[in-house]
Amino acid sequence: MLRDTVRLYLFAIRDSFITLLPLTFFRVLADLLRYLPVPGYHAAMADLFGPRWQAAVALAVEACLAAWGVGTAIAVAVFVHRRLSRRTADREPMQSIAVGFSALVNFMLYIFISGDSLADGFSYGAMPACILIGLGTGIILHAMSRWQISWSHYLTFDTDVVFFQAVRSCLPVTSAALATLVTLALAKEMSAWLPDPVLFFESILSSGIWSSTILASLINQITWFFGAHGTLVLSSVEGLLFAPLGEAYSSARGYRPLFDTFILLGGSGCTLGLLFSIMLSVREGGQVRVARLALIPSLFNINEVVLFGLPVVLNPLYLLPFIGVPLLATLISVGAIEAGMISFADTRVPWTTPPLISGWMVTGSWHGAALQCVLIGLSTFLYLPFVRMAERQRAARQSELVQKAASAIMEEKKRSPVIHRQDDTGVIARGLLGELKQAIARGDLELHYQPKLDGQETVVGFEALLRWTHRQHGPLSPILAVTLAEDGDMINELGAWVIDEACACKARLNALGYEELTMAFNISPMQLTDPDLPKRVSRALERNGLSPCEIELEVTESQAIPDNQQVDDAFRGLMEIGVRLAMDDFGMGYSSLLYLRRFEVGAIKIDGSLTRDVLVNEANADIIRSIAALGQKRGVAIVAEFVETIPQRDALIALGCSQFQGYLFSRPIPEADCVNFLRKA
Ligand code: C2E
Ligand code: MG
Ligand code: MG
Repeated sequence: MLRDTVRLYLFAIRDSFITLLPLTFFRVLADLLRYLPVPGYHAAMADLFGPRWQAAVALAVEACLAAWGVGTAIAVAVFVHRRLSRRTADREPMQSIAVGFSALVNFMLYIFISGDSLADGFSYGAMPACILIGLGTGIILHAMSRWQISWSHYLTFDTDVVFFQAVRSCLPVTSAALATLVTLALAKEMSAWLPDPVLFFESILSSGIWSSTILASLINQITWFFGAHGTLVLSSVEGLLFAPLGEAYSSARGYRPLFDTFILLGGSGCTLGLLFSIMLSVREGGQVRVARLALIPSLFNINEVVLFGLPVVLNPLYLLPFIGVPLLATLISVGAIEAGMISFADTRVPWTTPPLISGWMVTGSWHGAALQCVLIGLSTFLYLPFVRMAERQRAARQSELVQKAASAIMEEKKRSPVIHRQDDTGVIARGLLGELKQAIARGDLELHYQPKLDGQETVVGFEALLRWTHRQHGPLSPILAVTLAEDGDMINELGAWVIDEACACKARLNALGYEELTMAFNISPMQLTDPDLPKRVSRALERNGLSPCEIELEVTESQAIPDNQQVDDAFRGLMEIGVRLAMDDFGMGYSSLLYLRRFEVGAIKIDGSLTRDVLVNEANADIIRSIAALGQKRGVAIVAEFVETIPQRDALIALGCSQFQGYLFSRPIPEADCVNFLRKA
């Protein structure tokens, strides 16, 4: 339980960093503009924008850092509150806007009470405090709003929802503010009792370059790992760790150029190797997209995009290499320098200078660049197994989310369009819709064919069923594809592909001498609102040299068929062409009999929910008998779906069904297997 709770907090913090990524990205861009190590660039910018351009960009960076702190407090509070409410399945969690507002109030209290200047409060240095404020706010609000539920009968909803929500939030927000006040007052009192960190560092650092570099790299990596700006934290103890800038290298003190050039290398702890490792071993997905995005800033040693975007921050999977790689880089580079293989030139190199160039400049020889090459190569190699593990986890998690969303999308079928939803399912649905479009364009979709047989086990035709094998998530249900296509206004495009492909397959079967078989395919009720449907069908028939009686259109009954003139016109158009219509999934909806009046039906396919347990369920048997009697009277073929056993088939024959389809005979199979099936039958 405790472990789960800690995980919940860590994930909430990580989600916040990810949410704030646009801000980070903007800041990184501004930093890059400010420090781009290109000769002539700074003079050109001054010419273009005047001498104060750098100050303006610096202000933009400051603004981002300030917003980052308060943004983190707000985002952490919202995410913690949301995750806690989900865990306890709260019926009525507090609104995110109230949670965020409460975090903002607490953040302001922190600034006023800590006695810092406004500039100090609104800065990166306030990050750890902001995380704590966010956590505390989220936790208190969750507890308070749960407690409130028990006395909520005092606070009944009275027409104005906004007013109701605001009143509901008063008590939790005030409690969170009071708790912040008390905690801050106590913390201030206690801080006087804590030992001075400077004394602690000084005792360790007396042993020279090795301990300083190792300690610097640990401080840098560990602070970054927890989402705080390692480099800034490091600069606050810079005087203790490193010799003053401009002083020559000596093994008695830490040396900043060594640390920047060989340990940070591409951001923080040689993370350039992580990016290369991802690019080498992962082909698609989130990791590689972030890696590509992060490459340019990383080449200038700016690493936030990879740390927060991937994310490395708070990701236990990357902890080991993230700490281990820079330690190894320390051993190798300090070792090489101490062994006299590399020495430093007396040049100052801006920290944004790209690796290899910086190595060459700082040592004044190719040795520095070669050492950087080795370190990046080693980092790439060491990150590889972790990247693969992360990729496996990501793929599994994503597939699980997609499968979950797929079920939700299929269940939602009859309600609102899923692709307009704002939640995770909506995001996944929109992603899948884009991938479905690509799949159509790339020819990744297929049709499989399930045989239909008569009472004498002679094959009378096939039903074409859509198959979508997603490159990453494997086979996805055709119901999902059709629902997405319907919601995304591309059902006609998908339907047209199915019609063409099924007719082409039928033409190929004809060429092999199977003219007497019919080819059925499914059309969604929505396709019936397309005025071009009859034309599409007759064009497909013409193109493939088929006559209308060779194909059959199955219209599902489980979904309402729109009741309008367009649909009636489509039915009339199809009947004029002379194609046969089948009522699919008969018995699943509630308008079955009405539909029989609305258009001429050539076949009724009885749904699996009725046929499946015909042997044990008498009511179902009676319903099937009546449908069959009705069908026989009107000269309509009665097809039983989901026939899986011989006794079931025999019972269905006795009840009056004339055709059968189901796993007893065959599952839907690829076109290549149909001919084998026909030869064996
Ligand atoms: P449907 O048209 O009623 O197709 C029958 C479904 O039942 C198929 O599932 C088939 O694989 C499955 N099935 C057949 N025999 C058995 C059996 O004996 N036992 C069991 N458990 N299942 C059996 P599938 O292929 O997943 O298709 C599901 C639905 O998706 C179809 O139901 C149809 O409504 C829709 N669909 C499939 N392809 C298309 C298409 O190209 N266009 C449209 N609009 N809808 C399609
Ligand atoms: Mg069907
Ligand atoms: Mg069916």
